[in-house]
Amino acid sequence: GIEQDVPRDLNLSSYPFDAETVKRDFPILRERVHGRPLVWLDNAATTQKPQSVIDRLSYFYEHENSNVHRAAHELAARATDAYESAREKVRRFVNAPSTDEIVFVRGTTEGINLIAQTWGRRNIQKDDEIVITWLEHHANIVPWQMLCAEKGAKLRVAPVDDTGQIILEEYEKLLCSKTRLVSITQVSNALGTVTPAQKMIEMAHRYGATVLLDGAQSVSHMRADVQALDCDFFVFSGHKVFGPTGIGVVYGKAEILEHMPPWQGGGNMIQDVTFEKTVYHGPPQRFEAGTGNIADAVGLGAAIDYLDRVGMHNVSRHEHALLVYATDELSRVPGLRIIGTAKEKAGVLSFTLEGFRTEQVGEHLNRNGIAVRSGHHCAQPILRRFGIETSVRASLALYNTFEDIDRLIEAVWNLRLGRT
Ligand code: PLP
Repeated sequence: GIEQDVPRDLNLSSYPFDAETVKRDFPILRERVHGRPLVWLDNAATTQKPQSVIDRLSYFYEHENSNVHRAAHELAARATDAYESAREKVRRFVNAPSTDEIVFVRGTTEGINLIAQTWGRRNIQKDDEIVITWLEHHANIVPWQMLCAEKGAKLRVAPVDDTGQIILEEYEKLLCSKTRLVSITQVSNALGTVTPAQKMIEMAHRYGATVLLDGAQSVSHMRADVQALDCDFFVFSGHKVFGPTGIGVVYGKAEILEHMPPWQGGGNMIQDVTFEKTVYHGPPQRFEAGTGNIADAVGLGAAIDYLDRVGMHNVSRHEHALLVYATDELSRVPGLRIIGTAKEKAGVLSFTLEGFRTEQVGEHLNRNGIAVRSGHHCAQPILRRFGIETSVRASLALYNTFEDIDRLIEAVWNLRLGRT
């Protein structure tokens, strides 16, 4: 096969990092849009895929495709090996102790809903409290509202300061003996704030709460380490970390997953079925009813291999330099307001431009071949906290270059100065 075994990146990678070289690994970045080379700055919505991921998907369908775990033939063995080896890559990627703690789902949204409907339904009772933050994506708000409505539980929301950072003292005031769950993001998709997750998790644990960390927006920018963080659940989406759409991950601590009831019922998740009684598999199979997204799980494994080769420390360092540069340069544009100015930020630059609707800015950038998102970014509460309904969001990934940022800055200046 084309699988390559790459040792876990231990900050020792000797690969020199060069964004231009990295960019060449992503075929879609050779596209032209309105006559200009594409500049992809919509990475917080989804990331592009390196050739190695695309090739790995083709290889799967050309040489390995079968259902997994079910048949006594060669291709079933190949597909099962590929799928389970992807699970091992994910385990290594988040530094989980065991592959039994890695559940494949469709994405972050499905992962959070799975936890709400299994762990949540069993463990949240009337008058219990769930704590989230103002920074959350709708995917980490709505499932908890639904659960609270069903159970008569309360949703409490930790506020942020004017930079978009969590106010830890206010967060701590929300914690009490009724707090059953704290569900927070590691990086805000709308502002880029990196939350003090480790500290917040430790504080929540002092009150006996279970903690879910939403890693959707952090995994492409920084090392994920569920043991160092000590979170009870960690969820992320493959498509935001250079893998395919339709595949995501729930990590859960073994002792928690073992006591969680199944979610969907069907094939794959059972040990024995009679009409009187069904015995379920243990985790992770218990939570993977039906035929899963086998090929895309394998593709996610290839994306993790790719990131290992580049080295996450290289990615973090490069993106930080881009973010500092872009922030400095954009701040010089008259009437441009940067939303989210926390000291700890990753990957996201959100802004408004006085005199222009955010859609106008987005359309102007698109005419210049630059893809950003203008809208509410599925995080309406945090934008409203800053008195706006929408923003323009430029979001970074490892293949963005200083030239990409220069293109953005030039286009914003041209709009500001009425040169289109
Ligand atoms: N959480 C955060 C912080 C996100 O940025 C996103 C996606 O934008 C999600 C959750 C939902 O991810 P998905 O749409 O892949 O399920």
